[in-house]
Amino acid sequence: RASLDDDEESGRVRVAVRLRPKNADDLLSESDFTDCLELQPELKRVKLRKNNWSSESYRFDEVLTETASQKRVYEAVAKPVVESVLNGYNGTVMAYGQTGTGKTFTLGQLGKKDKSQCGIMVRALEDILVDISPAFDTVSVSYMQLYLESVQDLLAPEKINIPIVEDPKTGEVSLPGLAIVEIRDLGQFLELLQIGEANRHAANTKLNTESSRSHAILMVHVQRSSKLKDETEVSSQGNNTDGNISSQHVSMILRSKLLIVDLAGSERIDKSGSEGHMLEEAKFINLSLTSLGKCINALAENSPHIPTRDSKLTRLLRDSFGGTARTSLVVTVGPSARHYSETASTIAFGQRAM
Ligand code: ADP
Ligand code: MG
Repeated sequence: RASLDDDEESGRVRVAVRLRPKNADDLLSESDFTDCLELQPELKRVKLRKNNWSSESYRFDEVLTETASQKRVYEAVAKPVVESVLNGYNGTVMAYGQTGTGKTFTLGQLGKKDKSQCGIMVRALEDILVDISPAFDTVSVSYMQLYLESVQDLLAPEKINIPIVEDPKTGEVSLPGLAIVEIRDLGQFLELLQIGEANRHAANTKLNTESSRSHAILMVHVQRSSKLKDETEVSSQGNNTDGNISSQHVSMILRSKLLIVDLAGSERIDKSGSEGHMLEEAKFINLSLTSLGKCINALAENSPHIPTRDSKLTRLLRDSFGGTARTSLVVTVGPSARHYSETASTIAFGQRAM
């Protein structure tokens, strides 16, 4: 059983750092001093070196080096959240970092050629599908992108500007009109993700933008009644329950939601040099990531008020972090000192969540 079910962990954000292996670009610019990071995974510590004389250390829940396998990353970052979702709690897994540092590799890699390479989305669905009983439970998914504060359905791309609605009584967030597709096996899910990716590519070509400028969000709905049949303490399970329990006959449904969020690239866009379209992008990305940062800080400080109203991203996440929901954040970084300032700001973002 994952330790996230412990009280001390609840509500808190678990933060992991993942370092991407060196690529051709990094090697090309190799000189006396190329690496600005030193990872000490046993100590769960990251040392950030500004130059040869000064460095600073940061502690995280998990430090994943360039040799960490996709399986290891899944287990460290997402598995506890997935287990909690299977028990009826909402959960969120997010990747934050500069474009090119491995957010999509970490979350969205399909592993078509090599199964060992598949990322968190596929592994999460695999674990969920194994755990449920098809006769009693259902798993369904939605896939969307958030661009310029507008939600677009990636499974039905003609649907744009989908509203984000919050139930005033339960606090439950929903997106009326967004496609929700039931999944019965992993093959179906892989197909859907591919369609979503193709739609994303087409939509962004049309909008004349890069996929790194939007947030991609996979939403997995798990609805189960099998779980309740062998639980004795039904009342202490989960946070989203419907129906009543009569002594023997359990007619309850446990509902929960997992969000997997591939955030827009965190790099600072030079606002002074950009105008029109680019400036709009820069403003909205900064707005959503800043407001996400504020929410994460509030969670870390155990604040009773999480300021989710400022952006669509945080409004969408509202019922999936804080409270009984479990949240994991993986911050991705590259090794090269050329990107020192982006790396430093990514590490700082992760650190504020601790
Ligand atoms: P991002 O989504 O953050 O922009 P990507 O996931 O697209 O970054 O990664 C950029 C490139 O680096 C891709 O070609 C990806 O396959 C590769 N890459 C990223 N992380 C790793 C890793 N841990 N191991 C191997 N290749 C990686
Ligand atoms: Mg990406």
